[in-house]
Amino acid sequence: MQYPDWIWHNGDIKRWQDATTHIMAHGLHYGSSVFEGIRCYETPNGPAIFRLTDHNKRLYASARIYDMALPYDLDTLNAACREVIRRNELTRAYLRPFAWRGLGGFGLSADTPIDMAVATWFMGPYLGEEALDTGIDACVSSWQRFAPNTIPAGAKAGGNYLSGQLIAREARRLGFGEGIALASTGLLSEGAGENLFLVFDGALHTTPVSAALLNGITRNSLITLARDNGIEVIERDLPREYLYLCDELFMCGTAAEITPIRSVDGRQVGAGKPGPVTRRLQELFFGLFDGRTPDRHGWLEAL
Ligand code: PMP
Repeated sequence: MQYPDWIWHNGDIKRWQDATTHIMAHGLHYGSSVFEGIRCYETPNGPAIFRLTDHNKRLYASARIYDMALPYDLDTLNAACREVIRRNELTRAYLRPFAWRGLGGFGLSADTPIDMAVATWFMGPYLGEEALDTGIDACVSSWQRFAPNTIPAGAKAGGNYLSGQLIAREARRLGFGEGIALASTGLLSEGAGENLFLVFDGALHTTPVSAALLNGITRNSLITLARDNGIEVIERDLPREYLYLCDELFMCGTAAEITPIRSVDGRQVGAGKPGPVTRRLQELFFGLFDGRTPDRHGWLEAL
């Protein structure tokens, strides 16, 4: 991988190779970090960061859950996000703002200093070049999502992604494009790093946030776009077998965007190719960036 030149780190812009942390940083040992993933798209009005402020607000919320007082405020962080993209001369980019417990104590409850950084790099479709078009083959993971009273799924914290790694690595090892996890209730939860939507009779069904999943910003955007355009959305508990019965199925997230799923556990979903509702949502979502979908909610934040 070719790394970009610049990173924002604790208030300064540094060269990639100089943006380092101590190996005894708390976050490295105990997963005590919080992060965001955000995309910047090229639009007819220039590059725009999709829901930058909402993403960074979620970073502060994640930090709050873990009692991490972030040393820079939201405006500074938003400005840092814009600056790293500009300095690296990127237009279509993935942004990674993050904060972690640094060096300053080894106890679990240590109040270490908090470090912050923003990195950015070019990122194409997360689940493969063809995935957006042809869909992926997914499997239900043998790993469950953590229960709500164990680790809060609503925080986007580094440690949560041990669960995501088990799910994603198992799926890839078995030859699938991505894994889908059940919640501790046995009902559907989400993908390793994506939320899920099922389509029945033209309506979207998605698992409620109570199913121990990340309150995804793409999920929220799709619910809003669907309702704005007369597509019914139902947030409800969904059992595993509905994956085999639905007409269409897709995953969504900042990295995965809207990735159709053509089979689950080797069983074909619907017609085995992206269906009309999935296509319509892709059109509405990607239309935000080429001007076909009006930005009615102020989601495009200029670079
Ligand atoms: N669930 C998990 C576990 C994720 O990591 C992500 C990616 N951030 C999502 C859902 C989708 O969230 P978003 O649309 O905000 O990227």
